[in-house]
Amino acid sequence: MPNEPKTFQSWLKNTWKDYSIMIRVEAADAHGNCECVTCGVKHHWRSNLIHAGHCLSARYMNSPVKFEETNVACQCRHCNMLGMVTQWRPHATKGAEDVHRRFLKYVRTTHGDDELERLELRRNTVKMKTGEERKDELRVNRAEYKRRAAKAIEEKGL
Ligand SMILES: [Zn+2]
Repeated sequence: MPNEPKTFQSWLKNTWKDYSIMIRVEAADAHGNCECVTCGVKHHWRSNLIHAGHCLSARYMNSPVKFEETNVACQCRHCNMLGMVTQWRPHATKGAEDVHRRFLKYVRTTHGDDELERLELRRNTVKMKTGEERKDELRVNRAEYKRRAAKAIEEKGL
């Protein structure tokens, strides 16, 4: 297909971009604003101040919890950065720990304790495929993310 990325890493990056848009527009209100699940601040979904953040760390692009919907929610840039710090460094700041704790609470409240356990198990045990084999999967998923994003944009008039 024309204009498709060449490397596996660029496939992951492009898929993530579309996924992040889908997460933000589906969560946006009628004005296009998304609420940070860990501090409550609101920003327009197009703003670079609102991200699709991970509850359980997905620092590696090919992490098994990168595209798990229950692990991802709108988060302001500030909280997302703090949340990342707390999982990358053993001695995180108090503020960063608070953000992570609030995100865990959000996932438990929204999706249940069992789901959080499932995500943790998946993160710790699943080995993701790489290369050509996964490209086909990403191609299918990416088309679905784009379709859902377009639907949300149209329905909300964003
Ligand atoms: Zn926030």
